[in-house]
Amino acid sequence: MNFKYVREDLEKQIKKEFPKFEIIDKRDSKLMKLLAKILFFNKTFMTSYITVIGSKVYVPKLPWKKTNPFGAISVLSHEWVHMKDGKRLGFMFKFLYLFPQILAPLALLGFWNPWYFLFALCALPLPAPWRTKFELRGYTISMAVSWWLLDRRPDFDFYAKQFVGPAYYWMYPFEDYIRERLEEEFERIRADRLEPHEKHIKMFFLEKFNTIYYNGARKINNGINYFS
Ligand SMILES: [Zn+2]
Repeated sequence: MNFKYVREDLEKQIKKEFPKFEIIDKRDSKLMKLLAKILFFNKTFMTSYITVIGSKVYVPKLPWKKTNPFGAISVLSHEWVHMKDGKRLGFMFKFLYLFPQILAPLALLGFWNPWYFLFALCALPLPAPWRTKFELRGYTISMAVSWWLLDRRPDFDFYAKQFVGPAYYWMYPFEDYIRERLEEEFERIRADRLEPHEKHIKMFFLEKFNTIYYNGARKINNGINYFS
């Protein structure tokens, strides 16, 4: 199985759906340097995080994951879900993703009416319910892709840690609950009860494996077993 070509085709496929899709070196981006300052609590924002804004994907450096095409496939599939959600929800995606911290600048109105200073509290690492929801959708695809392509079960602890730590500004406080949700989502994937965007992404991989990368696919139940 040649993940290098799958990766190339995945990038082409995303580009077809999002013509402005591009992978950019974080070090070349003023916006990312500014964000690194705002996100000072995340010390490795520039060096170990992938950030998607609209359909631009910012990576620590280019070339990116040249020797680990499966890793790139996993990350890009996750970002693809964010792009799809962004397209569906427009401005609200950005607003909800950044809620409640996005309300903090309203504190500036405190100079007009001191009650507004209370909005400064929004800058604290308060739970971010919608960010949690969007990231759960993203990590569900990360788990699904490993399952579909490698027959690999997820490391639920690793995923749960992403939700409760500084990576996403402590977006969710209850590790046990999020772990349960991740397990539920994985079971749903295994049972092939897919949401439309998941179906679309799975179909892309199926098509690739049926045509180019895999010969000798064998049919199982409701699809093709393309990881053997
Ligand atoms: Zn994400």
